Amino acid sequence: MNSSPNYSNTNGYHRRRRQQQQQPGMSRRERVRRGSRRSRDSTDGGSSLRVCEQQQQRQHRPPCTDFDMAYFHSYAHVGIHEEMIKDRVRTETYRSAITQFQSYIAGKVVVDVGCGTGILSIFCAQAGAKRVYAIDASDIALQANEVVKANNLSDIVIVLHGRVEDVEIDEEVDVIISEWMGYMLLYESMLGSVITARDRWLKPGGLILPSDAKLYMAPVTHADRYSESIDFWRNVYGIDMSAMLPLAKQCAFEEPSVETITGENVLTWPHVVIHVDCYSVTIHELESVSTRYKFKSMMRAPLHGFAFWFDVEFNGPATTPANSYFTNLSVDNHPTDGSHRKKRTNPSEALVLSTAPEDPPTHWQQTLIYFYDPVELEQDQVIEGSVVLSQSKENRRFMNIRLEYSSGGRSYVKESVMR
Ligand code: SAH
Repeated sequence: MNSSPNYSNTNGYHRRRRQQQQQPGMSRRERVRRGSRRSRDSTDGGSSLRVCEQQQQRQHRPPCTDFDMAYFHSYAHVGIHEEMIKDRVRTETYRSAITQFQSYIAGKVVVDVGCGTGILSIFCAQAGAKRVYAIDASDIALQANEVVKANNLSDIVIVLHGRVEDVEIDEEVDVIISEWMGYMLLYESMLGSVITARDRWLKPGGLILPSDAKLYMAPVTHADRYSESIDFWRNVYGIDMSAMLPLAKQCAFEEPSVETITGENVLTWPHVVIHVDCYSVTIHELESVSTRYKFKSMMRAPLHGFAFWFDVEFNGPATTPANSYFTNLSVDNHPTDGSHRKKRTNPSEALVLSTAPEDPPTHWQQTLIYFYDPVELEQDQVIEGSVVLSQSKENRRFMNIRLEYSSGGRSYVKESVMR
């Protein structure tokens, strides 16, 4: 164990902002969004310079941009951690996974990628881990360290305040655990840091929790939502305000919307946009993900857009090299070189953390991409097209979404940015 002194938990290169502390009701995404949007004004000038200089000296490491600094800053607020921890579906599923894989954790070395308040690290210590490296680049790591001390776990849980890309650990690890999922799975682009941790420290045959992630999409109808935001303008206190319609549509539906829908809004079975195998996925594969889809509506209804949601699975560690169906498909269902892909134990019995509309709600909800105008669908009418999700050039934590869809002989394109 050896943390780089420059990234110790005393460097304090983030500064809390009163502004954030005064906004207790913000959702996780809102905090991350605001954090990521902030750039130069949001960080401590002197210490951020110090970090950038260090990056330049270590050219093999990805640079820590002003956007990254602002992103980590957003995670220094207690509210974001409170929201995640209070999401019992999320937190209990992780705890169940740790219990289920206790025999892989007891007496072993664990890395918690993005430890936040340290909750998952402490669960792992309670499960008998020999040592847990709890890493977080946000100032929340300072709190995690206090929590660890107060629970008399300082001998086991070592809090490293720095980026996974930058801190040093001088041993290989048996287990990587991380709660890295953003809205629409890939928003925030944190999975890349889990991949970095895997490639830097995981022993061959080590365990990654979670092991698999799938992003789904399905066509939805949501007449109430549409009329609340749009049809409302047709008659306002007896006045025809239809002139407002184009602006109302743009403001309501330009960006993806994080909200909760139910199974009743969904018009067909979902399509898997990507299946990420955390043991083998590469950072490059995540830069742009694309898929083609084809749905047949199960009912006659106006199609208002598409919903996206994800689940993650907690499967056993890689054991034997194999070319099973389970491992040959990766991002975008493209067959890939299976040479370093492994077969996992008991995939059918996997523990799943689901954010699907029919499952108990989580703080991720679902992400909706609405069309500006609904498409009237008959039962069995086909809707097909493609979707491309790519990291924004402006800030890789933002996501560009290009959605093409055609139905009834007409084709449309909807482009949006999740920022
Ligand atoms: N594990 C905690 C927190 C999850 S939120 C829990 O389950 O409650 C994700 C955390 O990862 C944030 O605190 C964020 O600051 C941290 N993080 C994201 N990318 C990171 C990186 N590259 N290096 C270190 N920490 C990172």
